[in-house]
Amino acid sequence: MARLAQTAGLTDVQQEILKTVREFVDKEIIPVATELEHRDEYPQQIVDGLKELGLFGLMIPEEYGGLGESLLTYALCVEEIARGWMSVSGIINTHFIVAYMLKQHGTQEQKDYFLPRMAAGETRGAFSMSEPGLGSDVSAITSKAVKDGDEYVLNGQKMWLTNGGTSTLVAVLVRSDEGHPEGTAPHKSMTTFLVEKESGFGEVRPGLTIPGKIDKMGYKGVDTTELIMDGLRIPANRVLGGVTGRGFYQMMDGVEVGRVNVAARGCGVAQRAFELGVSYAQQRHTFGKAIAQHQAIQFKLAEMATKVEAAHAMMVNAARKKDSGERNDLEAGMAKYLASEYCKEVVEDAFRIHGGYGFSKEYEIERLYREAPMLLIGEGTAEIQKMIIGRRLLEEYRFQG
Ligand SMILES: Cc1cc2nc3c(=O)[nH]c(=O)nc-3n(C[C@H](O)[C@H](O)[C@H](O)COP(=O)(O)OP(=O)(O)OC[C@H]3O[C@@H](n4cnc5c(N)ncnc54)[C@H](O)[C@@H]3O)c2cc1C
Repeated sequence: MARLAQTAGLTDVQQEILKTVREFVDKEIIPVATELEHRDEYPQQIVDGLKELGLFGLMIPEEYGGLGESLLTYALCVEEIARGWMSVSGIINTHFIVAYMLKQHGTQEQKDYFLPRMAAGETRGAFSMSEPGLGSDVSAITSKAVKDGDEYVLNGQKMWLTNGGTSTLVAVLVRSDEGHPEGTAPHKSMTTFLVEKESGFGEVRPGLTIPGKIDKMGYKGVDTTELIMDGLRIPANRVLGGVTGRGFYQMMDGVEVGRVNVAARGCGVAQRAFELGVSYAQQRHTFGKAIAQHQAIQFKLAEMATKVEAAHAMMVNAARKKDSGERNDLEAGMAKYLASEYCKEVVEDAFRIHGGYGFSKEYEIERLYREAPMLLIGEGTAEIQKMIIGRRLLEEYRFQG
């Protein structure tokens, strides 16, 4: 029945996958999301269901046991899932980024070893760039790897790992000076290590501690953690791609597809907020009529729906560009920026439409109101997106005078 956010030109397979995911969201996620969120409870049953649907391997090539689907299919699934509960999309997002980095940059041995396990959802991925002292400025990373025989010894503290506790494979970006003399540009002396660990908290591998969950405003249920490396020993064959000094580029590549994903999440949350707003507006009466019949509320609905449509179109465009093999950093940056800003605005309008009830935990919009801000920050803040967009525009429109 939904009229908004339709996507033209999908194949039968894509339509079938999306229908299945939408049904799963309506039946298994929406009815329990708010209750689990209020308890900050990990949605194990939902995750098991996603595993059964094959969602953890959606973009992993078929030769490794995945479904080999496109970024567009993936992003549209994420949009559906975030419409149900944004935290669930966060559970698959970091997994997807790590699988993508392995597929693009891993050695053959790394792909053969990790991708089938990841496709089955047995190995679950997280990625770690941020530290207590930095997030946007990745080049300032201080965690360090030092070569010792056939191994590297890693030390440092990481911050804000989505799925830090529940994951069993973390792609960790650190500085590695070996082979990169003093004065090498910071982004050329960084390396991504593939760190396997037990799930859970405490010392999950000798030299590696996941202290506990960070208590957050929203985006609950999914665990976000710190990660402490104290003499963590990693074999040389767990350097992503087998060569040091490429980590910065590998991570940026991963984050770029991650941005399409965050845009998709913004689209999903905004759609849900619109659904809640348009429904409530027809039920609540003031001054003798449904508030939907007051022009001011209709204008809000009109603005909300227009933003839902625009964000969806930009997100689809960014995904299709990547799928066609073209560079999409401009489109992904624009889609992430616009979708997250619009999401915040649509959620705010739906909240206002709910009047005082929007402030009650009994109403779903209260949860969405606490979730939307995360999208303004994760995978690069609005300011960072604008820097990327601005730089690319100056490349494309170089003054020829
Ligand atoms: C719930 C959650 C989950 C996360 N999950 C992960 C994860 O899984 N892995 C991971 O590595 N990280 C993760 N992060 C970290 C996230 O990527 C960073 O928070 C984000 O990149 C911003 O970094 P920061 O918090 O250090 O802010 P800062 O970089 O300190 O920025 C603070 C403010 O200054 C602005 N700013 C910074 N530099 C500039 C500039 N040059 N020009 C203009 N303005 C600027 C920013 O836009 C922002 O408004 C997560 C964060 C959250 C909140």
